Amino acid sequence: MDTPVVNLTELLRRALTAQVELGLGEMVITPKAVRKTAEQKESETISTKKQAAPGDLFTTLEKPVAEPEYSSLEEHRAAICNCRLCPLGDTRTTFVYGVGNPNADILFVGEAPGRDEDLQGEPFVGRAGKLLDKILAAMELSRNEVYIANILKCRPPNNRDPLPDEMEKCFPYLREQVRLIRPKMICALGRIAGQALLKTSTPLGRLRGQWHEYEGIPTIVTYHPAALLRFPTYKKGTWEDMQTLLERLKQSR
Ligand code: SF4
Repeated sequence: MDTPVVNLTELLRRALTAQVELGLGEMVITPKAVRKTAEQKESETISTKKQAAPGDLFTTLEKPVAEPEYSSLEEHRAAICNCRLCPLGDTRTTFVYGVGNPNADILFVGEAPGRDEDLQGEPFVGRAGKLLDKILAAMELSRNEVYIANILKCRPPNNRDPLPDEMEKCFPYLREQVRLIRPKMICALGRIAGQALLKTSTPLGRLRGQWHEYEGIPTIVTYHPAALLRFPTYKKGTWEDMQTLLERLKQSR
């Protein structure tokens, strides 16, 4: 039998065809430079995905917002008291800015006004507020010596938890309050306030018992007074947190 004569070009064509049929075509025909570009693209995609990966709910709270700066709390309050940036502006009764000493050493931060606060326009005036007053008294402080504010300035309907979008829109107001008051330390009352301030989703149990920082200000997280009403056993831990706060305050004077 005669052996067919197959030239080099034909052999190459057959080899290429076979590789394409096996799905290997790109491995052979993709030039190195093109392959590199594709690899770079993939790596860029991975790196973009890494940046966009959902870390926690609160990572967006410090988005740079071109907020004007004010010279006093009164000026700031007057400028924002008719805010309707989120839907809570339409359902609130009263805007609740904050109360206390504008030069306070300690800023207490809760999550949002409740029913009593919404009616009276002052934070922590209901049952939980009365308990906070008792805690302050035990610390030999009054609400005229500290400053008390919330993450949200308007009451969420039925006292539900603040939504991430509401906190994102409202947070710059608290940031400006902190800038104007310049407290020596901050005490976040409850999980939501602690997580929002510290931009974390770490559970309250792990936020307590250690110092954190918000914008360089020593920050401690403790139970919300409303939680103490429901679970009186938390009072001991709260008192320990307040002792820690007072100890650091003494050292700072
Ligand atoms: S909760 Fe904050 S952002 Fe929303 S309307 Fe009230 S002040 Fe504005």
